[in-house]
Amino acid sequence: MLSTLQSVEWTVKSRARARHMIDEFRAEFGGEPELWTRAPGRVDLMGSHTDYNLGFVLTLPISKDTWIAARRREDGIVRLRSMNLDAVDEFRLDQIDRVADSKWRNYVRGVPAVLQQEGLALKGCDAIIHSSVPIESGLSSSAALECALATMFEELGGWHLLPQRKAQFGQKAEHEFAGVNCGILDQYSACLGLNGCALLLDCRNLSTRTVHLAGNIHVVICNTMSRRRLSGGEYAQRRSECEQGAAILGVPALRDLSPHHLASRRNELSDTVARRCEFIVAESARVELLAQALSSNDRDAISSLCAASFTGAKDLYEIVSPAMETMMDCMLAAPGVLGARQAGAGFGGCMVALVDSAHTEAFRASVIDSYSRATQTTPEVWPVTGARGAEAFHL
Ligand code: ADP
Ligand code: MG
Repeated sequence: MLSTLQSVEWTVKSRARARHMIDEFRAEFGGEPELWTRAPGRVDLMGSHTDYNLGFVLTLPISKDTWIAARRREDGIVRLRSMNLDAVDEFRLDQIDRVADSKWRNYVRGVPAVLQQEGLALKGCDAIIHSSVPIESGLSSSAALECALATMFEELGGWHLLPQRKAQFGQKAEHEFAGVNCGILDQYSACLGLNGCALLLDCRNLSTRTVHLAGNIHVVICNTMSRRRLSGGEYAQRRSECEQGAAILGVPALRDLSPHHLASRRNELSDTVARRCEFIVAESARVELLAQALSSNDRDAISSLCAASFTGAKDLYEIVSPAMETMMDCMLAAPGVLGARQAGAGFGGCMVALVDSAHTEAFRASVIDSYSRATQTTPEVWPVTGARGAEAFHL
């Protein structure tokens, strides 16, 4: 049975979105969709690259999300149309193969393949996918897609998964089919979100704690509009450097190193590996501090923790592109800014600012103006709120 929709706010915009998807469904498949699912993107407020080091992350599942409108089929065939990519995939549930030359088809095939490996009975379907999460911009459109799809198969199959398991299956699909060795952050954010809240995630024991931001703080995403590509090797390289550091220092993961322990044995590591380790250990420690600062509206702490995170990302972890440096300058010069830093894996894409809610509109206008003048590219700047995790919904 479909759960009652609580999180989609039926604004003029969301109604138009649903109508648009229904039109696409009729044009592509004929007839009407019978079930709807959604899952949010996310922005990390603190904790870059800490997830695969089994450390901490403060994440906000956001009010930009992926929607799927679907109708069951009884013949075991899955047909999916992505409105974002204007592309269609079709496969049989009893023969799900990887595709050599298509990234997105591996994302969508991985989810049912993993669910079946887990012994879950799947139904075929026709489905339309539409995402308001910008793709390949660091807000995790991939996990939003995986978790909305897993929820669709859950509804079609009539069984239910705990959100934690659904997240793990999405991660497995991304590892095995998309070939991206991601941590658990993105899928946990997509599955465990609560309206209006951030989540503090412990990536070792996978426990989460709800964090309420002080009412007068807004989270604003600023898109540099320069795309990044995770399979470009940089992500895997950072991950392997962290693993080397942990192996040399004899710990299971960098999570197990204190700043003091690392400092005392730094000379056993190459300079590059030492800098990577230094960033991760400090970044993970900043997560709890930022959670406290955001709850208690401690503006000095917000500012200094975000600044330290960005400096470390630039000098130690080397994930900051020139477009991100320009955007950082624009965010820090804008009215109402409390703190600003990178988001996602870095290398371009989106960044995040914490802004005094009295100045959100002025902040937005200022960043658009200054970044456009500096780069001749108009950035997207959106205030976002905390959104619920993956779910089915009614129109
Ligand atoms: P991010 O998750 O930060 O947006 P990734 O490179 O991890 O970037 O994942 C993006 C990929 O996920 C896209 O290139 C595409 O293959 C797939 N994807 C995400 N959203 C959609 C969508 N709405 N339709 C089709 N494919 C999508
Ligand atoms: Mg992704």
